[in-house]
Amino acid sequence: MIEKHFEDSKTNLPWFRNILQIPFVRNVVKYPLYPYIFQFGALIFFLLFIYYGWQQPVFELNSASEKLFRKLNFTTFIVWGIWWPSMIWVAFLIGRAWCHVCPLELLMNFAERLGRRLKIPQKLMPKIFRNGILIIIGYLFVQFAVSTFHIHRAPHGAAIFLFSLGIFAFLGGFFYKYRSFCSYVCPVGILLNCYSRSAPFELRIINDKVCKQCSTKDCKSPETYKQWNKRGCPSLLNPPKLNSNKECLLCMQCVKACPYDNIRFGSRTFFKDIIPGEKMNIAIPLFLIIITGFLTYELTLNKALKEIFLAVPHWAEHIFSVTNPHGKGFLKGLWMLIVFPSAIWLTFAGIYKIFSQNNNYSFYFKTYAIAFIPVLLSAHLSKSLDKWNSWLKGINLPFKDPFGVETFQDIFLEKTMLEPSKIVAVSTLHWLPLIFLAIGSTVSLIKIVQTNRYLAVSPVKITTISQVIPLLMLLLVATIFFVNVWMW
Ligand code: SF4
Ligand code: SF4
Ligand code: SF4
Repeated sequence: MIEKHFEDSKTNLPWFRNILQIPFVRNVVKYPLYPYIFQFGALIFFLLFIYYGWQQPVFELNSASEKLFRKLNFTTFIVWGIWWPSMIWVAFLIGRAWCHVCPLELLMNFAERLGRRLKIPQKLMPKIFRNGILIIIGYLFVQFAVSTFHIHRAPHGAAIFLFSLGIFAFLGGFFYKYRSFCSYVCPVGILLNCYSRSAPFELRIINDKVCKQCSTKDCKSPETYKQWNKRGCPSLLNPPKLNSNKECLLCMQCVKACPYDNIRFGSRTFFKDIIPGEKMNIAIPLFLIIITGFLTYELTLNKALKEIFLAVPHWAEHIFSVTNPHGKGFLKGLWMLIVFPSAIWLTFAGIYKIFSQNNNYSFYFKTYAIAFIPVLLSAHLSKSLDKWNSWLKGINLPFKDPFGVETFQDIFLEKTMLEPSKIVAVSTLHWLPLIFLAIGSTVSLIKIVQTNRYLAVSPVKITTISQVIPLLMLLLVATIFFVNVWMW
């Protein structure tokens, strides 16, 4: 009977709704060493990044040599110029696919097994930390390290950052079970949680009748959790009930474990998991607030506009007599990551609170923040495009001379080589980001309208004016992004 249910649904699926039906793909995914072999490859790269970045020259902050050297050293080039922008695009196009090859997950997995062997009493992360607050702290920490110490430009800083991440992942696995580091600590966890909701791919069960009759439930069985292969979901998710990409790391363990091949990975519509009215943890709005300021700064390539945006931290430098470049960087980070975006979000939340009469500040954030994901994602995709455009032309250089010191001498001191230029001028490139922003803003607008409709039939009291407030905020945020990109 159970096979009959499965056969009925399987034959109705086109190949793109379940690419695991393709024999080659299925065989690769079911191979016992998958995805470990890819994770191991990524771990080798991870160690090479630490090696090639460690103790490399550190230049004066914001100097021409600092800006050039970051594009020549293997660590800074790959981590910040290729991997980071690519991760945003991969999350948008495939979901959390990066996670399934992530070397930190492998380190954590290994540490967890070692800890078990050494009889360490492994637990779940304490409840107080299971709300994503450590991820927000970690993300802010990374962004402040970028603005204050330029770890995105200094290879040594980048190497220290990666080394620390590796240590945290190892300790997370050693003392806590069920991928606690991924779920509650990894600094990119919430970014991937938010952006993967938009992906046109999903991992879901094929036929729920098969799951209902399945007696072993191997896909979530705690008994198989300790195996290397065919594990019950190591993230403690419930595959038969999976309805969002937000937490699934696409590790494919449930696919391997299911004896009925009742899990598919295939296409769906874009932005499907941005669900109006979804109850969300406060860490998501906090992340979206931070990223609003971060993206405003990152999209401001025009010098005059940048001066305007940074007028407040420059004024603060003057008032507090801050002359140290690290101090100036910290003030800039404080403004772009906290003060500026909080001012926007708190102002609109405050107005919403007045007009909706019965709700508190957190209601606005928890209810409407999710609808802003498309516009913020489109801004992030635009920035990634600019990054590739600026960096990719010199891709051969860090492979020829991974430390980058000799190439730096040739370009900067001896002038026997030219510095790699952009692929196209940003004034030509900016049309594509403008299209992304138009699409992202439109989808956000639709999601806000859908949220208003959802609230209108819920017991929450809302007014016509309160429904307009998130739309006005979208108008403001989208206009800021559009003007910035228009001026590229
Ligand atoms: S959540 Fe972070 S540590 Fe975990 S697999 Fe994804 S990127 Fe790696
Ligand atoms: S193993 Fe899980 S996914 Fe497979 S049929 Fe059983 S309950 Fe469903
Ligand atoms: S649901 Fe499946 S693919 Fe997703 S994290 Fe769990 S085991 Fe991995």
